[in-house]
Amino acid sequence: MVIEMNCLICVGAAERVMCEGPWEERDCPECGRYRISDELILALMDQGQIFDVLKTRGWLDTRRSEGFLPCIQCPEGLLVTFVEPT
Ligand SMILES: [Zn+2]
Repeated sequence: MVIEMNCLICVGAAERVMCEGPWEERDCPECGRYRISDELILALMDQGQIFDVLKTRGWLDTRRSEGFLPCIQCPEGLLVTFVEPT
C-alpha cells in the first residue's frame, strides 16, 4: 500500500511505504528509499532542525552500496539547524 507524501529529506513528492515498527518509510524519486525513526522526526520538529539534503543523500547512497535499506535513527552530522531569516 502506497500513499503520496512529502519526502522527509528534500520535501519533494514521495511515496509513503507502509512498514512495521516505529518507522516512517519513504520512496523518493530524488533521495531513493529510506526509513526514519518516528522518534527522530518528532525531535527534528521540536528542535527546528532539517536534513542537509546533499550530505544525507550521500549517506543514503553509502548505506545502499553496502546492501542495506538506510534507516536514519541517529543523524550525527546530517542535520543543519533551520533558522528563519529575520
Ligand atoms: Zn527526497
